[in-house]
Amino acid sequence: MLIAANWKMHKTGRETVRFCRELRDRLAKLDAGVEVVVCPAYTSLDEAVEALFGTQIGVFAQNVHWEDHGAYTGEISAGMLVEIGVTGTLVSHSERRQLFGETDETAAKRVEAALKARLRTIACVGETDAEREAGEAEAVLERQVKAIRAVVPKGGTDLLTIAYEPVWAIGTGKTATPEQAEEAHAFIRKLLDVPVLYGGSVKPGNAAELFERAHVEGALVGGASLETDSFGAICEAAAAVPS
Ligand code: PEP
Repeated sequence: MLIAANWKMHKTGRETVRFCRELRDRLAKLDAGVEVVVCPAYTSLDEAVEALFGTQIGVFAQNVHWEDHGAYTGEISAGMLVEIGVTGTLVSHSERRQLFGETDETAAKRVEAALKARLRTIACVGETDAEREAGEAEAVLERQVKAIRAVVPKGGTDLLTIAYEPVWAIGTGKTATPEQAEEAHAFIRKLLDVPVLYGGSVKPGNAAELFERAHVEGALVGGASLETDSFGAICEAAAAVPS
């Protein structure tokens, strides 16, 4: 099980350090079968790495560019992340797709660069409400997953995880049912044999029933990851699932 906190554009460096120390203390005795990572804003990555040094909690970025360096104002390369001790990254979050022009093609380029730099990579996929209503959810997932699959080197799936995040469930309080999540995860798994996380309004109150599903191998958590109490409770729910 992998539980990842996506902080989006929240938390200053100071807030990050406070959260990381609290989380470290709270999760000190967590079952070794659960891996926990936080994804702070770029400006807090350094502080998070330092605050979590020597713990089991990893630090991932929220995005990465595909070039090593160059005239790409506002972008960050994989090498820059590796240099400061970041061990992984999110790619193609739906907010990147919806608000910042991320396409299947650019998502694939980011995944390729991240894997090449040996960064653990959580690539996000998911359909919108309209696509689900139109019966196109599987076609959308297939297109998104195949774009990612095309750039994964042979035998190179060890660093890759997919996050199934139905767009209609992100930040809306509307969670996919465990059945909907299970069905989508099984579909994705048939296309690409890597662990699949669920993301979309995961909270302490619904985490356990999602984690009980065989194909739900963790969660990408937005809103509920901003407080140590709620995020800690979700991590503990993952640890309580019999393996
Ligand atoms: C996310 O943004 O990745 C997410 C899942 O957000 P939330 O948990 O707030 O729905």
